[in-house]
Amino acid sequence: SRWEKRIRTSARVRSRSSSTVLVTGAAGFVGTHVSLALKRRGDGVIGLDNFNEYYDTKLKRARQEMLDQAGVFVVEGDINDRELLNKLFDVVPFTHVMHLAAQAGVRYAMQNPASYVHSNIAGFVNLLEVCKSANPQPAIVWASSSSVYGLNSKVPFSEKDRTDQPASLYAASKKAGEEIAHTYNHIYGLSITGLRFFTVYGPWGRPDMAYFFFTEDILKGKEITIYEGSDHISVARDFTYIDDIVKGCVSALDSAKKSTGSGGKKKGSAQFRIFNLGNTSPVPVTKLVNILEKLLKVKAKKKFLPLPRNGDVKFTHANISLAQRDLGYKPTTDLETGLKKFVKWYIRYYKGSKRSSW
Ligand code: NAD
Repeated sequence: SRWEKRIRTSARVRSRSSSTVLVTGAAGFVGTHVSLALKRRGDGVIGLDNFNEYYDTKLKRARQEMLDQAGVFVVEGDINDRELLNKLFDVVPFTHVMHLAAQAGVRYAMQNPASYVHSNIAGFVNLLEVCKSANPQPAIVWASSSSVYGLNSKVPFSEKDRTDQPASLYAASKKAGEEIAHTYNHIYGLSITGLRFFTVYGPWGRPDMAYFFFTEDILKGKEITIYEGSDHISVARDFTYIDDIVKGCVSALDSAKKSTGSGGKKKGSAQFRIFNLGNTSPVPVTKLVNILEKLLKVKAKKKFLPLPRNGDVKFTHANISLAQRDLGYKPTTDLETGLKKFVKWYIRYYKGSKRSSW
């Protein structure tokens, strides 16, 4: 069929050493950037995305168009669709799966808890079931989150720190994902690497994230809300630029060992890893807003409110020595440099569209 032909073309690798990668959540923010990076260096890449309406689907379609032009075909479908996944694995012997499809966002979990269970738990299990039975078994790299550190008060966060106090259902679903991944590694010998991303930002970013809607609201002259603790110090985040995250993802894929299929029986054979991918330099949201004001040349109308107990933690800060050691991970973009690139993209992207009413 045409569908199969598109998949075979998209999966074609340009050099012998290259991998064939299934990228789930390919029309998402991180998925788009990772897919492009893999394609550019010669890997075979197939995307999968259900184009859900959590945020602006036009933006997802625009990313898809960009991927299409780069030769990455994005299959429209859900990671819960066993038949579809089986069909994909029948057509393409994937060496790797980069699993980025998820229900993201911490506050939305209070409105739609079921979508977190659907995508982050049931969907992940469905994908792992297919991977476990695939021949060859692909090595899996997937996105966990810094949110697993929850109400932990020890900074910076290290991979060995406690993760037993999730502050939102989103965090709990990512933590559950880590436990599920460990089980599949142990029983079925799947090679699995979890990456705990810290607040990723950049061009083609997510409209539900603060740096994005602050930009929009500042330009529109709309008031923005900054949350702060009882000490009147604003929330701080270890903002990490998308290109740094992409490098970490690619390096995790490249260093992933093959799945063994033998699970815990052959000791030490199947690989299970978890890494922080952050910037190691937390910035208070007040500072983020100052940088945006400078770049946009507009003063923000600010309102300060106490941090609600709905999922956001007060600060995040990554210790990245493990990723540095094993992945050669080294973030190089500071917040101002990264935001400059975001703002440039934002203005170009929304020029002429409805949003540019400012
Ligand atoms: P995103 O929402 O832009 O991308 C996720 C994509 O997955 C979306 O395009 C969505 O349509 C798709 N998707 C969702 N559920 C699906 C399903 N059931 N089947 C198929 N497709 C589905 O988010 P992102 O920022 O690109 O995040 C990528 C991954 O990184 C997610 O797992 C997210 O939880 C994780 N993460 C992101 C950040 C960040 O700051 N951006 C931080 C920590 C972790």
